[in-house]
Amino acid sequence: MACQRRATVARLFALVLAYRVLLSTSLLALAPAPLRSRDFFPSPTILAWERELKVRTLAPEGTVNTMGEDLERLKQRIPLLTYLQRYHWSGRPAAVRSELVGLCPLHADTRPSFYVNARKNLFYCHGCGQGGDLIRFVQLSQHLSFRQSLAYLHEELAPSAQLLEHTAAFYQLELHRYPEGIQYLAQRGLQDATLIEELGIGYARGGNLRPHLQQLGYSLERLLELGLIRPQGQDAFCRRAIFPCRQQNRIVNLYGRSIGDAFPHRLLPRSKGGLFAWQSVRQFRNLILVEGLFDLAVLWQAGFRNTTCAIGTHLTSMQLAQLCENPDRCVYIAFDQDENQAGQRAADSLLQVLDKAGLKIRLVGLPAGHDPNSYFLAGASAEDFARLLEEAPSL
Ligand SMILES: [Zn+2]
Repeated sequence: MACQRRATVARLFALVLAYRVLLSTSLLALAPAPLRSRDFFPSPTILAWERELKVRTLAPEGTVNTMGEDLERLKQRIPLLTYLQRYHWSGRPAAVRSELVGLCPLHADTRPSFYVNARKNLFYCHGCGQGGDLIRFVQLSQHLSFRQSLAYLHEELAPSAQLLEHTAAFYQLELHRYPEGIQYLAQRGLQDATLIEELGIGYARGGNLRPHLQQLGYSLERLLELGLIRPQGQDAFCRRAIFPCRQQNRIVNLYGRSIGDAFPHRLLPRSKGGLFAWQSVRQFRNLILVEGLFDLAVLWQAGFRNTTCAIGTHLTSMQLAQLCENPDRCVYIAFDQDENQAGQRAADSLLQVLDKAGLKIRLVGLPAGHDPNSYFLAGASAEDFARLLEEAPSL
């Protein structure tokens, strides 16, 4: 009991100490610019962050203390530098041994200000002042909470990304084995073979995924766990066009659109990830936001490559954070103009959220009863849609 109390006191003391370090670094951030310059703060300043780290890993929601060892193990299994290099960061040797410096992936950097200390497994950026460990980096770069970052990194280690990759590849092959898949895409106005390939669209006939994946060595338990096979034994996706949802080039979920009478939309029981194709659309200042992946596909096909999709009308906090990455962003909302007003209502409530976040918003007025997909199917051209964008009232 006394021992426990001592441990608590020690932890409190560590927190206070770390808080003071944090306070002094944040005070420095408020200091006039010359004080913040490299000359004043001899590079690297990773040591300060090493101390602050104690706050970062102790604080969240009071449950993390017991996870300390797991966190350390996780960070050892994915060294920060390895992670950064996997996502194409490169640096040159800095003045201090085992340290590299390169462009900062967290802000628009023009001269290398991002330091990585491979031995300490920490980073610090002199440009944006961000620093910390791998988990902190994932939080900042992916707009995730502490908990979500842990899940994200566990994914990095666990083979579910690979299993989804194998599943999507199988469905992609199946698209060319059974005519009904391609026929359905054509019926939805999607004919561009290169685009179908680029989006990785596949077809799930149903009833044949399990033997294929088991042949690749996956256990039935893994398939059940991921929701690819339902507890009753059937395939989760049956007679559906499949779109893999990627985040940082990694599949995080699969969306299946029914081509028959079944409920139209299905995702695996896991996070839908960020905005669709974010890696390729984030560069655009003006974005078109649509509800469904067929809306996105036909708009991309018509040349509107700045279209992204939240898969539904509700944006997760991650998706919202992605839109807000660029404060000058203008979002064109092109949701369904349903007869029952559900699309408009969804757009209205989203509008308020985006407006509060300070983004510029324009509402695309599709003809009644239409979504972008059906609008093109009804014969509209790229010029027609461009006109709708031009005429979209800003709010
Ligand atoms: Zn930076």
